[in-house]
Amino acid sequence: MTATEGKPPLNGRQRANLNALALATELRGRIKGEVRFDAGTRAIYAHDSSNYRQVPFGVVVPKDSEDVVAAIEVCRRHGAPVLPRGCGTSLSGETTNVAVIVDTSKYMRGILEVNPDEGYARVQPGVVRDQLSDMTEERYGQVFAPDTSTHEYATLGGMIGNNSCGVHSVMAGRTSDNIEELEILLYDGTRMKVGPTSQEELEQIIGEGGRKGDIYRSLKELRNRHADLIRERYPQIPRRVSGYNLDELLPEKGFNVARALVGSEGTLVTLLEAKVRLVHSPPHRSLLVLGYPSIYEAGDHVPEILEHGPIGLEGIDDELIRDMKLRGMHPKDIPMLPQGKGWLLAEFGGETADEAHRKAEEAIDALKESDDPPDMKLFESADEAQKMWGIREDGLGATAYVPMEDDHWPGWEDSAVHPEKVGDYLRDLRELYDRYDYKASLYGHFGDGCIHCRVDFDLKTAEGLKRWQEFMDEASDLVVSYGGSLSGEHGDGQQRASFLPKMYGEELMQVFREFKEIWDPDWKMNPGKVIDTNPMTEDLRFGTSYNPIEPDDVRFAYPEDNGSFAHATMRCVGAGKCRDIESGTMCPSYMVTLEEEHNTRGRARILHEMLRGDLIEDGFKSREVYDALDLCLSCKGCKGECPVNVDMATYKAEFLSRFFKGRLRPPEAYSMGLIMIHARLAQYVPWLANLVTHAPLIKDVIKHLGGLTTEREMPPFATQTFKGWFRDRAPRNVGAPPVVLFPDTFNNFLHPEPMKATVEVLEDAGYRVIVPQESLCCGRPLYDYGMLDTAEAFLKRLVKTLAPYVREGTKVVGVEPSCVAAFRDELPNLLPHDEDARRLTRNTLTLAEFLVNEANYEPPRLDREALVHGHCHQEAIMGMSSEQDLYERLGLDFEFLDSGCCGLAGSFGFEREHYDVSMKIGERRLLPAVRDADPDTLLIADGFSCKTQVEHATDRRALHTSQILKMALDHGESGPEGSYPERRYPDVLTGDGRRDLKTAAIVGGVLADVALAWGHGRRF
Ligand SMILES: Cc1cc2nc3c(=O)[nH]c(=O)nc-3n(C[C@H](O)[C@H](O)[C@H](O)COP(=O)(O)OP(=O)(O)OC[C@H]3O[C@@H](n4cnc5c(N)ncnc54)[C@H](O)[C@@H]3O)c2cc1C
Ligand code: SF4
Ligand code: SF4
Repeated sequence: MTATEGKPPLNGRQRANLNALALATELRGRIKGEVRFDAGTRAIYAHDSSNYRQVPFGVVVPKDSEDVVAAIEVCRRHGAPVLPRGCGTSLSGETTNVAVIVDTSKYMRGILEVNPDEGYARVQPGVVRDQLSDMTEERYGQVFAPDTSTHEYATLGGMIGNNSCGVHSVMAGRTSDNIEELEILLYDGTRMKVGPTSQEELEQIIGEGGRKGDIYRSLKELRNRHADLIRERYPQIPRRVSGYNLDELLPEKGFNVARALVGSEGTLVTLLEAKVRLVHSPPHRSLLVLGYPSIYEAGDHVPEILEHGPIGLEGIDDELIRDMKLRGMHPKDIPMLPQGKGWLLAEFGGETADEAHRKAEEAIDALKESDDPPDMKLFESADEAQKMWGIREDGLGATAYVPMEDDHWPGWEDSAVHPEKVGDYLRDLRELYDRYDYKASLYGHFGDGCIHCRVDFDLKTAEGLKRWQEFMDEASDLVVSYGGSLSGEHGDGQQRASFLPKMYGEELMQVFREFKEIWDPDWKMNPGKVIDTNPMTEDLRFGTSYNPIEPDDVRFAYPEDNGSFAHATMRCVGAGKCRDIESGTMCPSYMVTLEEEHNTRGRARILHEMLRGDLIEDGFKSREVYDALDLCLSCKGCKGECPVNVDMATYKAEFLSRFFKGRLRPPEAYSMGLIMIHARLAQYVPWLANLVTHAPLIKDVIKHLGGLTTEREMPPFATQTFKGWFRDRAPRNVGAPPVVLFPDTFNNFLHPEPMKATVEVLEDAGYRVIVPQESLCCGRPLYDYGMLDTAEAFLKRLVKTLAPYVREGTKVVGVEPSCVAAFRDELPNLLPHDEDARRLTRNTLTLAEFLVNEANYEPPRLDREALVHGHCHQEAIMGMSSEQDLYERLGLDFEFLDSGCCGLAGSFGFEREHYDVSMKIGERRLLPAVRDADPDTLLIADGFSCKTQVEHATDRRALHTSQILKMALDHGESGPEGSYPERRYPDVLTGDGRRDLKTAAIVGGVLADVALAWGHGRRF
């Protein structure tokens, strides 16, 4: 018997983990940045935007180039493959691998040099395309021209890795055409700079010997041996992206080693630094949209439009517009398109608006003379043009999940032909889709001949996969027959690589292998991608073994996902918009941590993995999942802004409701989640509640027990609730049309003044205000802690109480945007089969929505400047258009801040563990903007949280829209005199109140329940 007999052999996974443990330990000893080999991180990084899934050994997040060098040295000693990665938005599987992922996107974001005179910038690989171009455009009128649809979050390392392109590649080419020099690191540790190489330099480098000399000698020999074949087989089209860029080594291209490495998809070297070309960006643009009878005819006219020198030329078809209509996208913008069923968007640039306009007009005049002129519309205002671009840019969001159709996937989404052949290629491609009974809309970068489409491939059954493979086989034959490229911008990855021989022939495939070996003789750089890959139907995200846990007793309805939580968690298409840190709301936690697990995508992926169950094994009790969701503010930013409406706030509530089943929640769940109960009790002795929550020492003990930060003051309870005030008031407008005012917990007990102002405004608009006296709450704070049983009970009570009103068609107005959002979003999602709930959803409005759309109210004028911060729930669910309309009617000179989430987000910012993140989010935009505002400027924020955050961190206080309207009623056109106008309009009036010992006992009960929670355990 040998020593190992009797023990089961290690399986592959255990072996990998064993190595991974040693590898991780050594990496931790060498890296300044982060080394993450935990299941949660591996789950999150097992995906990119493609159809593939491979679980990495772990992830290294290097601080700088030296960290990358050290990481690769350690990997080399362990024989571990390496996958460099940026934002991970690749669509062909090149950013998933069983490897150590080196993610440069967190720390290596340095713009090292900008030289506008010579037109270049030097950057680290994690620099985001727009981070560079926005800065250089503003300062020097120059940009890095290729602009992928993902330009707000794609990194230059990734763009170089994939040889990315975009709308303005028509003007300045692919990424490879815009690279001057690269600093690279080989798997064997060789570090060097590469770029164009004159004959003299080439001989000198070879003469100097060493590893660099060897590489250059091998490259030269390879080039010399195959130059004619390369010239013969490489398609002469603008978007040849498939295969390695061997053509860049040709003498006529200057033996450009940097450009030869572009598009190598991490399979050859790791990029440490890049010198990229900056080009002049025409400051003025005119957008001409052309409508044709079909997308094919639009394609036929591409060469004709190109003659007029557009800087961008895109195409969209009527299928895309149909999909958008089905999803309710761009309802006001689509009618602005010219007549037709296929459209071209031609952008013209100029140094002046006149010049851009003149170029567009010249094109129009010439086209009018043609035999079959298209219907034409010139969009000169930036706002209108942006609406048209919005239609084009939302292509993916519109086509991924089309109602009543199977899900659509990438696979054949960026093939390219010569621009002269677009029309015919589109016809043949459509015929092919029809033959396979596949549905796909056709759109893309027509000016460069690159066609996009997402297709309803069946990626889950053996038959579906076979069919997909057959289709890909035929589709590659088709594009090759057009002299085109399998990929026109996204790269080959694993998906297209097996078809490369059709495009280049076996001889060139062997040359590709030699090229790979020159750089990576150990085949450790992103193995199995681009060259000698696993079959395209392996390593799939779905595949025939995909069998997620499908919880059948989910709490929410998930109407967009046919009730499937598993489908909801796989909604994310990986586009990466939740990694945009410059604009919008999504995703506030990522904006300040830059951690993949703290963005919507990371959270969606870990939930998806949780249901797969092989990597995250403890399902809804998983600590990794809990941690990834912990910093989610439930702001609903993703629901509003994600192209496929990933709704993480709902998924989080669903998860937490199960995670805490049988466990005690953290104390903040009881102190803040049950605020509606505490507040009801506190109303009887507000003086005592305020005393204990504001008295030195006691307040800190209370906060400590409740899991809350001592950095924030608790909002005081009003000495008289709003409902109490309303009860004491004589009825007004008796006989007038009724409107119900919903007395939410926050405003009823803590901020009654905005509600009182709302009553006055509604009465001024001619309505009789009804305030239900029952104890009502939409349960808003409960969702954030997954207390869904209680939330549902509150909702049922709410529906029962308000049903008599809404059955009569009476509108319900909410003052707190997050409560209105709960009526519109959580309510139908939790009680989908309750007709009264549906009525309530339809009939509940914000004050502005009611005044503008129902009452057609013409408010008195208020001639003031104002800064407006929209509540994140409002932005996501209701939108702010009615508020905008109302402020215009008021005559305000207002600006909507692009401030995203305020950071307080209900109770999030009150929680001890979240205070720092909350403040960082607030300090990103909102708080500095408030501090910079002129003291005369009105600050408007309807959200209780937003107002509280402003009040805690600045010397200003924001007012509710109702208080602004009241200001106009009270003071006339110029409003109150002097600075800090809000000081005349407090939110809460505090006083002694009545001292009632009997009710003091009730407050004691409030404290006792917090203490009880504490006594049962600090955390679950
Ligand atoms: C919705 C959507 C729209 C898209 N639109 C476009 C488009 O209009 N045009 C377009 O061209 N592409 C588009 N793409 C594809 C993708 O966004 C681009 O290829 C993008 O440039 C990739 O950047 P990234 O930072 O996400 O790179 P990643 O996906 O992280 O990496 C891309 C490749 O580069 C390699 N890489 C990354 N960093 C390094 C490094 N430091 N050293 C060596 N190799 C490295 C990786 O290994 C990988 O092979 C789109 C994708 C999606 C999901
Ligand atoms: S969550 Fe939405 S925005 Fe983020 S990557 Fe996924 S699809 Fe894109
Ligand atoms: S709800 Fe807000 S914080 Fe949570 S994932 Fe969505 S955008 Fe991010």
